[in-house]
Amino acid sequence: MYQLPEKLKNFTPYEPLVGDYKIRLDVNESFVEVDEEKIIEAVRGVSLNRYPDPYATDTVNAFSRLFGVNPALVTAGSGLDELIGLIAASLLEKGDKLLCLTPDFSMYAFYSRLYELEVAELPKSEDMTVDIRAVIDYINKNNVKALMFSNPCNPTSLGIEKAEIRRLITSTGALVVLDEAYMDFWDESESMLSEATDYSNLIVLRTCSKSCSLAGIRLGFAVAGEKITHALRTMKSPFNVGVLTQAIGAAALSDAEGYKRSVQAVKKSTLCLYNALTELNMFGRIFETRTNFIFIKTERAREIYEELLRKSIAVRCFGGYLRISAGTEEENSALICALSEIKRK
Ligand SMILES: *Cc1c(COP(=O)(O)O)cnc(C)c1O
Repeated sequence: MYQLPEKLKNFTPYEPLVGDYKIRLDVNESFVEVDEEKIIEAVRGVSLNRYPDPYATDTVNAFSRLFGVNPALVTAGSGLDELIGLIAASLLEKGDKLLCLTPDFSMYAFYSRLYELEVAELPKSEDMTVDIRAVIDYINKNNVKALMFSNPCNPTSLGIEKAEIRRLITSTGALVVLDEAYMDFWDESESMLSEATDYSNLIVLRTCSKSCSLAGIRLGFAVAGEKITHALRTMKSPFNVGVLTQAIGAAALSDAEGYKRSVQAVKKSTLCLYNALTELNMFGRIFETRTNFIFIKTERAREIYEELLRKSIAVRCFGGYLRISAGTEEENSALICALSEIKRK
């Protein structure tokens, strides 16, 4: 009799919030609409009967031009999700220890468990900052093979400065997987992208899902040195990025002006939302934000979350915290309006 492997017992299916909520501020998507004409133009004439280019050459070149990296050291994936899984599956071995800094993006632990790595968790301090010295210490004392974390962080919205990241990379032999999914919204000068290939133990991840308004096409990139890039390109499934995604991604990433405009619009909205939430004066703490969302500490998190759902506004709730993505002006106003009603209750 066939039986599912024991390890699957620890997994539950990913359950996105289902329902027809008018305002979705729960998964950090971009509210900026993509230029439909440009997309249609980009996919016109694409050969759907042919397998895609295994190395997504045009797309990788467009990404590399936009961010000033060497295209030979970029691996494209079907979203960062795929690349995170690929790293866990192919650059580490069963039983290897992988460190996560909690709270952080849940997929690191998910894929690590799937590929039977041992997941170690180092909790962040009360104020959600990361003590890099403590991380280095933990890695070196506990035989940690790899560390995965997001910077800026989802869900805390905080950023770790580049000097600290550099110190982390150079002070351990562990593989450092640096997920910069939100770096576009902070400051490119804090990104390790330009020096990703200078270290033999670093992978920098970037995605089109947040800053490029393209969560739906599934496109992400891993930038690393030669050895790691070769391994990733060898181990990925050959046709991992579809022709439509490649074409749309190449067009979007070739439009530097459009990209900048889009990032600016999101940054502006995030700041407005941050200020309006601060003015409401109803939360224990609002964390400074380096991302396209706001992280809030409040004892009423669950209650506020449910009240907002009743008003058809979806945000994320984690224990005593809320995470709210920046929306359009109208969406932000509707949220603030709903929150002030909840406050008065
Ligand atoms: C949203 C998010 C991703 C998702 O990336 P995809 O490219 O959409 O798979 C990766 N990392 C973090 C930290 C995220 O918040």
